[in-house]
Amino acid sequence: MSLGMSTRAPTLFGPTNVPALSSRSCRSPPPARYGGRHTVTLIPGDGIGPELAKHVCELFRFCCVPVDFEVVDVDSSMASEDDIDDAIMAIRRNGVALKGNIETNHNLPPSYKSRNNLLRTTLDLYANVMHCQSLPGVRTRHRKIDIMIVRENTEGEYSSLEHENVPGVVECLKIITKTKSLRIADYAFQTARAKGRRLVTAVHKANIMKLGDGLFLECCKEVASGYPEISFESMIVDNTTMQLVSRPQQFDVMVMPNLYGNVVSNVCAGLVGGPGLVPGANYGENYAVFETGTRNTGKSIANSNTANPTAMLLASCLLLDHLKLHDYASMIRRAVLSTLTETKLHTADLGGQGSTSEVLQRVMNAVQSTGPRTLSM
Ligand code: ATP
Repeated sequence: MSLGMSTRAPTLFGPTNVPALSSRSCRSPPPARYGGRHTVTLIPGDGIGPELAKHVCELFRFCCVPVDFEVVDVDSSMASEDDIDDAIMAIRRNGVALKGNIETNHNLPPSYKSRNNLLRTTLDLYANVMHCQSLPGVRTRHRKIDIMIVRENTEGEYSSLEHENVPGVVECLKIITKTKSLRIADYAFQTARAKGRRLVTAVHKANIMKLGDGLFLECCKEVASGYPEISFESMIVDNTTMQLVSRPQQFDVMVMPNLYGNVVSNVCAGLVGGPGLVPGANYGENYAVFETGTRNTGKSIANSNTANPTAMLLASCLLLDHLKLHDYASMIRRAVLSTLTETKLHTADLGGQGSTSEVLQRVMNAVQSTGPRTLSM
């Protein structure tokens, strides 16, 4: 089934990790251990994270997926960073993780850093990839959206060096480096090439941030010259957001620094139906971490059995693809997407009255109708 533009590979939320990319990056999954089973770090996170993590575990058990989760809880209310250090150590051990979002309370002092950001920077998970595609059964203003967002994940505005020298005057650093800009631009073009995509758009604000965003843009141009078969364009971030909400079908692959990536990801998720639908992946040289694309905690709907589990379930499919358990990934992805077409099961975010557990039950029924034993593994 292809809901994207006709020139592209017909994959609906297919693997966003692209094994044929360069040898530098995280292309090979960690080897399976203990009788062909993989151990994966599971960080439930806050808000709706723990209940969604529980559903993924249940579904994997139901589907006989050869994955064992090592659960690491992170207490986001603690001042100490011991918990997140333990989580990072577990990911170093296992190579791969599935995580819910960990709350970052903006009322806490600057010394209290985002655990999510610490994890991504410490493990150098430099490429955040989010594939936003129109989904079956989800009514949206725009149709036929098929955008891959490649976001630099480790520097930019998230460098978090903030201080107040003069009372009332705050300095806030945005770090852009040539090395990291070239690296993310190359990742975007390699992804475009591997996926048969035609156009890469670099998003920037180089007219105002001439040095920082200017460097980012120059790096993108330099990398683009090595990919003559892929068109390259640049677009200023404010125009980009306007173009996205008016004519999103014009975009193919987008590459951008960290904060613009955050904003654009959320706009794109909104365009295809909301934060409960789109999975996200973070890749580095050695590790990969999968989560929901928009990284929400959804605190206000926690423990109410109303969260849309689609994004987390599709994130678990990306994880399975990364482990090269493609048959399991396809089986679960098919079941999740077919469940979405049943509008009477839609959760509240999609305008329905379905519950999280009803959606999960339907996903399991759909798996059963194809049958886990039909897997060629
Ligand atoms: P809160 O959930 O407490 O409002 P917040 O304002 O930080 O926290 P986010 O966690 O960023 O909100 O989520 C943004 C919105 O998206 C919220 O209204 C949240 O309930 C909703 N949301 C996030 N994830 C899901 C999901 N999986 N299913 C349904 N709604 C979701």
